[in-house]
Amino acid sequence: MLTVITGPMFSGKSIELIRQVNRFKIGGKRVIVFKYGEDRRYAEAAAASLDGLTTWAVPAVSTEEIAMRVEADHEVVVIDEVQFFDDPIVELLLGYVKSGKEVVVAGLNLDFRSKPFIFRGGTQTMADLIVHADSIFALHAICTAKESGKICGAPATRTQRLRDGEPVSIDEPVVQIGSAESYEARCIRHHFLH
Ligand SMILES: [Zn+2]
Repeated sequence: MLTVITGPMFSGKSIELIRQVNRFKIGGKRVIVFKYGEDRRYAEAAAASLDGLTTWAVPAVSTEEIAMRVEADHEVVVIDEVQFFDDPIVELLLGYVKSGKEVVVAGLNLDFRSKPFIFRGGTQTMADLIVHADSIFALHAICTAKESGKICGAPATRTQRLRDGEPVSIDEPVVQIGSAESYEARCIRHHFLH
């Protein structure tokens, strides 16, 4: 079975992932959890607020690293921030499902431009994983855009990239780790690009 947990930033994807991991652990399954290794901000945030994930999670930045660490008797393969991995991740995970493993992944469905998030170095997107999912958790955040000093509060399905409080250009690269931009969850009405 393939389970995909998806939605914008701040929608609780990692919390849902941990809930799923706990269920498999209670069931006595042999679980391996991966987190995207270069994404230190999330690793630190997870350590602060989400007990468990960083304790178990193996850092990895490529499909090859995951393939090397997963053993034949791992019954459950879990990946957080799956959207940052390289294109062959789709075939690897579908192969695990075919071989009888449980696969649970969490990741952004859309990038800051509201386009399907493309896996690194390829053409497949999160949509290519989602169409194969046996179970989908489509989570929403809460829109934190302000109008006349009041927070919108509508369900947020988009991730807004900001720099100095202003929406960024649509031409920026999708992945910018360690730069000065910030992100907010937004409803479709409050998602802006320049
Ligand atoms: Zn809004």
